[in-house]
Amino acid sequence: MCLSVVWFMNRLFLARVRLNFGLFSDDGKIHTATLYKLLTSVSNSKDAISRFIWDNCAPPRVQFFAWLLTNDRIQHKCNLKKKVLDDSTCDVCGGAEETVDHLIFRCPHACNFWHALGFRLGDGTQVLNLDQLGRPSRVPAEQFGAFILLCCWQLWKQRNGHVFRQEPISLQRTLQACKTEATLWGARAPKGCRGIGTRWCEVFFHFNVNHDETKCCKMFSHYPGRLGPS
Ligand SMILES: [Zn+2]
Repeated sequence: MCLSVVWFMNRLFLARVRLNFGLFSDDGKIHTATLYKLLTSVSNSKDAISRFIWDNCAPPRVQFFAWLLTNDRIQHKCNLKKKVLDDSTCDVCGGAEETVDHLIFRCPHACNFWHALGFRLGDGTQVLNLDQLGRPSRVPAEQFGAFILLCCWQLWKQRNGHVFRQEPISLQRTLQACKTEATLWGARAPKGCRGIGTRWCEVFFHFNVNHDETKCCKMFSHYPGRLGPS
């Protein structure tokens, strides 16, 4: 990841009290659209992950989320354990530490989700290599990066709903949430790619009902972050 962006973010948060140049509202909330412009303007990097995050039709708030995700800066339990939590066990599966890779790929719920969409995950699949995920034939090549960001965003939102509002978490609910989000993105997308939302909805609707869920649980049983027996 581009060092200049990391440096910029560190400076930004350290100096947020002294330098308020329109990024923060009076109640302390960040203006993601402004931040997006700043991040993309200071980044000279054209590395693959930067292009993957910023060069697509995903909304700026989701691109910012992806930037935090790939820099391991989201508030998952392993990160919070360093500051406020005693226990970093995943609330969704209860079987492993909640790292960024666990919640996006290795948690059985997440793993089932990707497999149902036709993705092939392996030991080398990491959030850091999000841009290297292979495209299933059923997923359109157009705006494939945005499709992945939408999936990660919804996995994160579903996890938050479960952790903070005790909402049930399931493959069906996550796919339905993705469909709803795809419809919204499609409606707001720039001219020329508005039809992509409809095509994504078909992917989420016609997911692979025959995928083997138990395979996901077994696949990462030797993963170092796993706490319990497989
Ligand atoms: Zn889990």
